Amino acid sequence: MVPTMKSALFNRQPDDKPFLISGPCSAETEEQVLDTCQRLAATGKVQALRAGIWKPRTKPGMFEGVGTKGLPWLKKASELTGLPTAVEVATAKHVEDCLAFGIDILWVGARTTGNPFSVQEIANALRGVDVPVLVKNPIHPELELWVGAVERLQKAGLTHVGLIHRGFSSYGNTDFRNAPMWHLPIEMKRRMPEMPLLCDPSHICGRRDTLFGVAQQALNLGFDGNMIESHQNPDAAWSDAKQQITPEVLHDLIEGLVWRHESTDKREFLTALASFREQINHLDAEIMQLLGRRMAVAEKIGQYKKENDITILQTSRWNEVLERALRQGQSVGLTPEFVEQYLAAVHLESINHQSRVMEG
Ligand code: PEP
Ligand code: MN
Repeated sequence: MVPTMKSALFNRQPDDKPFLISGPCSAETEEQVLDTCQRLAATGKVQALRAGIWKPRTKPGMFEGVGTKGLPWLKKASELTGLPTAVEVATAKHVEDCLAFGIDILWVGARTTGNPFSVQEIANALRGVDVPVLVKNPIHPELELWVGAVERLQKAGLTHVGLIHRGFSSYGNTDFRNAPMWHLPIEMKRRMPEMPLLCDPSHICGRRDTLFGVAQQALNLGFDGNMIESHQNPDAAWSDAKQQITPEVLHDLIEGLVWRHESTDKREFLTALASFREQINHLDAEIMQLLGRRMAVAEKIGQYKKENDITILQTSRWNEVLERALRQGQSVGLTPEFVEQYLAAVHLESINHQSRVMEG
């Protein structure tokens, strides 16, 4: 155990710099781990090294990690750099292997947090061991599952449990690999104010060019730091190639971040505001997706009408749509004027889509 790491992450002081964990998505070869980690240490920005040893993959046949043989590589990287190491665990065997090789921080991956059986197995394997464990949010946006995973670990006696926000799989989202839905980690922070909260921009973004904005947003919202994937040669990475950056690019990214020292009151206000705005962004994105789908259905109707020689506008149908919308709108507090204007615009767009199909 490296004592400075524990205090830097778990006993944070107001002036502490944001915590940064970095390293490759996956350990691939000893040379790749050592070169990446030494270059990361040389940036002077990294407080802990990470590498995936066992990779939970969506489909069999994808690279599933080098397994236990990668652990000594990380140990060596730690000895060479003086930095602690972090590894994802999903089973009791992973826990045992990591502890045997002196891994300093464990984390529970998003796919595992969603499975109470697996989290309990990990918690049981950690009984009586005081190793820091970071819990990533589950893939789907269910806060209680995230809370439950933390509670299982705490009940097993772990006193150094932290959180990692890696975004959520969501319908209606195109900008991110995993939608940040900032209001959810913020709610976690509200419920567990003492718990360190890191952001994982790599898995939120899924690409390099948006990492900075997400890392900065996390700091603006009072997160304690970030976990960002870095690889000696990102394009050649065996997993998550698109989102990884070299240690040198990471250095510049971190250098550009602004660490705000707001008063607690101001930070709480900014956090609440950002959370509401984020909810609105997310809802707007969903509405756009739904409108797109609505137009696609209108085009199918256009095709059908064309094949059967029917006119586009049928007045009785339009009246029925309008009346239903007025009723539904009223029940959720929308004025009839708004509903009429909104629907008129949607209807016009719909007719335009249909006309294009019928003329085509
Ligand atoms: C990872 O950190 O490489 C990883 C697999 O992340 P997640 O569990 O967030 O998908
Ligand atoms: Mn990854």
